[in-house]
Amino acid sequence: MVVRGLSIKKYGGNERDMKGYNPFETAQTQFDNVAEVLDLDSGTRELLRKPLREYHFSIPITMDDGSKKVFQGFRVLHNDARGPGKGGIRFHPQETIDTVRALSLWMTWKTAVVDIPLGGGKGGVICDPHNLSQREQEQICRGWVRQIARSIGPVSDVPAPDVMTNSQHMIWMMDEYEAIHGAKYPGMITGKPVGSGGSLGRTEATGYGVIFTVREALKELNIRPQDTVASVQGFGNVSQYAIKLYNQYGGKVIAVSCWDQKDQKAYTYRKTEGIDLDELLGITDIFGTIDKNDAVDKGYEILDADAWIEQDVDILIPAALENQINASNVDKISSQVKIIAEGANGPTTLEADKVIQERGIYMIPDFLCNAGGVTCSYFEQVQNNMNYYWEKDEVLGKLDIKMTAAFIAVSDLAVRKKLYMRDAAYVIAIDRVAQSCKSRGWC
Ligand code: NAD
Repeated sequence: MVVRGLSIKKYGGNERDMKGYNPFETAQTQFDNVAEVLDLDSGTRELLRKPLREYHFSIPITMDDGSKKVFQGFRVLHNDARGPGKGGIRFHPQETIDTVRALSLWMTWKTAVVDIPLGGGKGGVICDPHNLSQREQEQICRGWVRQIARSIGPVSDVPAPDVMTNSQHMIWMMDEYEAIHGAKYPGMITGKPVGSGGSLGRTEATGYGVIFTVREALKELNIRPQDTVASVQGFGNVSQYAIKLYNQYGGKVIAVSCWDQKDQKAYTYRKTEGIDLDELLGITDIFGTIDKNDAVDKGYEILDADAWIEQDVDILIPAALENQINASNVDKISSQVKIIAEGANGPTTLEADKVIQERGIYMIPDFLCNAGGVTCSYFEQVQNNMNYYWEKDEVLGKLDIKMTAAFIAVSDLAVRKKLYMRDAAYVIAIDRVAQSCKSRGWC
């Protein structure tokens, strides 16, 4: 393994978000930097810097009012050298093919860094479930599967939930797939409801995994969790379970932010004595939106969208969407912050990441930090294959072992080679995938 200096390069992209960032550009630049560090040959670079295949399709739906509407769907398979593709399906009004491509690359590195025998893929539909009935969402799920049924499956590419999709969407998708193929295929999708092929612990897995890595980082910094305070962006699946376990370890969260559908903007909810998780859950909808009026009644301060990043805390946990820590707000990070744990995928832009690295903040990079979900999805498939289901403690115990081992391998390399944690994680993951591609004769 050759380790050289790192640089930042720019690439042209065509799909930018509202802040002007393109996540695919970010993912490719991160890859190119590490390809340089690993001294990868040009064939391997060409192979790994873009997806192996991608599908774009239309999903025609009859809406509840009888009108017809066509939704745009995607499935991208970045790499399957180490095993079947794996990655969620996101429903989002601002979904773009470049977001899906970026997420598919990050899935490949994620499955590799935790060393599970899977590749990386991602899917999406441009839609806003807030404005769709359950029946309309079911039609989109079934329509998505009808378009892609021949190219996904338990031994080729396995979808899962992501932003604004959940176990209900997964079971509709599995049902459609099984109807098309005429047999039972519980391993064709993960994140299913418990009792219908789902695994105990899957709901908690990503958030808990985030905190397993935070716990290990705190050990390295010689800080006790009970002496720390955190601020979290997002209040959905990842965030809620991260806060739950962090609280169990004795940590205190003083601020969370979330998107407000009615006002079409995000707010930060702060209680300096520490938020009460159960109280907030009681006033939060299934999309992770906290009711603003109820929060005021319960004594929360309502602050701006970016206020979560400005708090005087020890730990920041971005757990919402991509590009949330960027050039416009990175300088607002308090000098007290010691750890950033990326619960979301791609929450930090390249410019912001450089600043964080220079400031010496301990970064737990997304594809390591939030790998608990895909690790548990892998456990779900293993249980589906055995048709034998583990108790929750067994699932979460195995998850802790996998996450901790992955964290230690990355931090050991970071110390040994004097690398930034993100670069160390990339070096391990890309090296594993490149070796696998090479041994198959792909490059
Ligand atoms: P979710 O849909 O359950 O929750 C998302 C939360 O983010 C909601 O509270 C929403 O209000 C909030 N949000 C959206 N836009 C925001 C903004 N601009 N400012 C502040 N808050 C905002 O989603 P999730 O499953 O918790 O996923 C969150 C992130 O974690 C995503 O990047 C996702 O790709 C990643 N992730 C999720 C899993 C998983 O298992 N759920 C696994 C790995 C990575």
